[in-house]
Amino acid sequence: MSANPKDAPLAGHEFQLLIDGRLTAGAALLEVINPATGKTLTHCARADKAQLDAAVAAAKRAFPAWSGTPIAERRRMLLAIAEALEARSAEFARLLTEEQGKPLAHAAGEIFGSVAMIRAFAAMDLPVKVLRDNAKERIVQHHVPLGVVAAITPWNFPLILLMIKVAPALLAGNTLVAKPAPTTPLTTLLFGQLCAKILPRGVLNVIVDQNDLGGHLTQHPDVAKVAFTGSTATGKKVMASASGTVKRLTLELGGNDAAIVLDDVDVKEVAAKIFQGAMVNCGQVCLAIKRVYVPESMYEAMCTELAGLAQKAVVGNGLDAGTQIGPMQNKVQFEKVKEFIEDARKHGKIIAGGKTLPGEGYFIAPTIVRDIADDARLVREEQFGPVLPVLKYADLDDAIARANGTEYGLGGTVWAKDSERAYAVARKIDSGTIWINKHLELPPDIPFAGAKQSGFGAEMGQEGLEEFTQSKIINISK
Ligand code: NAD
Repeated sequence: MSANPKDAPLAGHEFQLLIDGRLTAGAALLEVINPATGKTLTHCARADKAQLDAAVAAAKRAFPAWSGTPIAERRRMLLAIAEALEARSAEFARLLTEEQGKPLAHAAGEIFGSVAMIRAFAAMDLPVKVLRDNAKERIVQHHVPLGVVAAITPWNFPLILLMIKVAPALLAGNTLVAKPAPTTPLTTLLFGQLCAKILPRGVLNVIVDQNDLGGHLTQHPDVAKVAFTGSTATGKKVMASASGTVKRLTLELGGNDAAIVLDDVDVKEVAAKIFQGAMVNCGQVCLAIKRVYVPESMYEAMCTELAGLAQKAVVGNGLDAGTQIGPMQNKVQFEKVKEFIEDARKHGKIIAGGKTLPGEGYFIAPTIVRDIADDARLVREEQFGPVLPVLKYADLDDAIARANGTEYGLGGTVWAKDSERAYAVARKIDSGTIWINKHLELPPDIPFAGAKQSGFGAEMGQEGLEEFTQSKIINISK
């Protein structure tokens, strides 16, 4: 595969579904576009409802044996998956760049992060806890698996967001049906192929849709839990459709994270970190910096620095050496971000970027917008692209109130030399994670969860493992 020229469709690769341990042709084919060229990358298998039902049925059949397998054996298989993924990391990274667009070094980072994520979960345990033990009684708590888990993922980090679900779900003894976003199905299908050689049949199933089977999966009576990452709008549909059988849910949804800069920072140093935090993965990160609040005294300098960084950034095909920012992942999002830019042009001042790049790929020049109104779309909504509004504040409490004035509550950052002041600000931000003087550090052993309409239920850490279990109390009279 890696011998292909960068704009040629993948040759000799069949991307098939994984149902009941068998690689299976789809009921139809799905075209996958390379976002850097706008051209067909390949076609892959696409499931219909009957295939989705077959995948759920296979996962249900596999559940009794898998949940009855000792955790040490499940751990061993997870470690074998990590090893197999690591051995093919170059192939996975290239495929990820081709389907998703991110620079190759970042794609390699996502693959190694995925391997590390599996290993981190494999190192965890679900011990039986003795809650009370006295002359009269003994009360113990077990964490038992739930059954069939639906793992639904978006297109910005197709593999690592899948690992955050697959690894803990499998370790805890659940079986799965994974469904990637239709614009980035390939790395998930390749992962399924890899797991087919390691896991017992039916334990992991992979199906692909064209945004038409998600509802059927999330309301399926034989699915016990939905682990969903995606937009808040779709998350609301998932929540509604899961109610029929009171499914367990983890919803990791959208964000509109603010960076609050305090008045003691080194502007140049902080601007570089903020730029990176806003533009990484072409801004297509749930936890990207999506708004920046800057004190009046530093506003000019910060705008100038950010604009300079945007003008210098190398945008291009992720396979080209030196590319720092790739294309938007898909045409729908590309068109949406162009609308944000046009709206920002009316309600603010664009000081860098503000345009697409020539060619068929979905490229947008990194864009910095200043003097924009608080009620402009770019400030209120999640842009999910390389367009950053820079907002001025006179009073820190006012900046905090404006940062909190959103239905989202995913992350956020505070930038300051005085760490105590920064900590006090961080405590006032309504979100699940706040970084101080750093950004996007997500260690696998630290839980991550959204506040407000950014979702609920933790991923990663021990909590992220226990989300795939049911607490079961056994209360014994002595
Ligand atoms: P999306 O909601 O459009 O799609 C996500 C997934 O849901 C896809 O697999 C899609 O096919 C599926 N889907 C579509 N309709 C469905 C339905 N009715 N029922 C069930 N599933 C359905 O999101 P996207 O555009 O792929 O991803 C971007 C969004 O994801 C952004 O809002 C971003 O902030 C968010 N995101 C959140 C996190 C997080 O951890 N909080 C991480 C990454 C991305």
